[in-house]
Amino acid sequence: PSFTPLSSSSAAAAASRRLPVGVRKPPLRVVVTGGAGFVGSHLVDELLARGDSVIVVDNFFTGRKENVARHLADPRFELIRHDVVEPILLEVDQIYHLACPASPYKTNVMGTLNMLGLAKRVGARFLLTSTSEVYGDPLEHPQKESYWGHVNPIGVRSCYDEGKRTAETLTMDYHRGAGVEVRIARIFNTYGPRMCLDDGRVVSNFVAQTLRKQPMTVYGDGKQTRSFQYVSDLVDGLITLMESEHIGPFNLGNPGEFTMLELAQVVKETIDPSARVEFKPNTADDPHMRKPDISKAKSLLHWEPKISLKQGLPRMVSDFQKRIMDEKR
Ligand code: NAD
Ligand code: UDP
Ligand code: UDP
Repeated sequence: PSFTPLSSSSAAAAASRRLPVGVRKPPLRVVVTGGAGFVGSHLVDELLARGDSVIVVDNFFTGRKENVARHLADPRFELIRHDVVEPILLEVDQIYHLACPASPYKTNVMGTLNMLGLAKRVGARFLLTSTSEVYGDPLEHPQKESYWGHVNPIGVRSCYDEGKRTAETLTMDYHRGAGVEVRIARIFNTYGPRMCLDDGRVVSNFVAQTLRKQPMTVYGDGKQTRSFQYVSDLVDGLITLMESEHIGPFNLGNPGEFTMLELAQVVKETIDPSARVEFKPNTADDPHMRKPDISKAKSLLHWEPKISLKQGLPRMVSDFQKRIMDEKR
């Protein structure tokens, strides 16, 4: 892309749109790419509830129309089936860029470039949902935003890790070069209702397996750790970041750290005391541990998660139960 200096008209438009902190904003026009997905659909619920108009751009690769079906009759809601790898023209104030499939290098690069080009043209504020995966298999624990990461550029997971790292680079380039107002969130493992049933993530796997009376598949020795955040805490963090005066990156995650065996134990206690585990070989390059240091978000955004794993897990079980029952019909 050809970069224009900070004084460009789009930067001026963006600056004029900025209101002093604390002033109530008029309803905004907001795009949520990936808004038919797990996190996106919860974010859409919140934005509509506070009075904004929302356009969801989604190609339904992993998302589902039923995640946003309740809003289809709402005149403030619009659903566009579109692949963000292709350019799109819209007139909006804010862009939450969540679209991201399972093997996502091209979407992360082309999709992020297009959404940044859109933000530049209309002077919208742009938020990237990056990931804790940018830290790779971390040599620093817990991970602070200042850590540059430990990523294998040619491994099986690198299309995701390096894709998001490139997306962060593009985001900062458009900020520095074209004056786009940007925000970067680094999201740690998040769970909750509407998660894909079968996309292989550990919380959805363990919950679905236990409800289906199958053993929970623990990869490797099960001693690797992750930190699990409930989706409403994340949505709260994303909106707080978008509305703040800080660019980030900010870690958004729950610092509560669990081994996979401990997670299996919590699922067992929550759903079925007779649940069992079964060990399977682990995948290559699996990070050994992950836990966010959230002191930056705490001090600058005054944000921290409120819902523990033990409180959050039961809230997704009824949703999973219902969808698994529907499958059998
Ligand atoms: P999801 O798969 O439920 O949602 C992604 C959405 O993007 C889906 O609706 C999908 O159909 C859509 N999409 C994919 N490719 C697209 C394309 N090319 N054009 C248009 N739409 C496309 O995943 P999620 O868990 O809701 O994740 C949302 C964002 O948060 C992603 O950017 C993800 O990388 C990030 N994130 C999530 C977690 C987590 O634990 N859930 C952790 C770290 C980062
Ligand atoms: N773009 C888009 N919608 C817009 C404006 C731009 O999808 O409203 C796309 C555009 O097609 C291009 C990308 O965003 O592929 C980057 O745009 P930019 O203007 O920064 O780059 P250039 O077109 O100068 O390479
Ligand atoms: N995992 C597991 N059993 C499963 C799915 C995943 O033990 O059925 C492990 C996986 O090896 C990893 C952790 O759970 O160590 C988290 O995996 P997930 O894919 O949910 O998230 P990510 O690796 O992206 O953090």
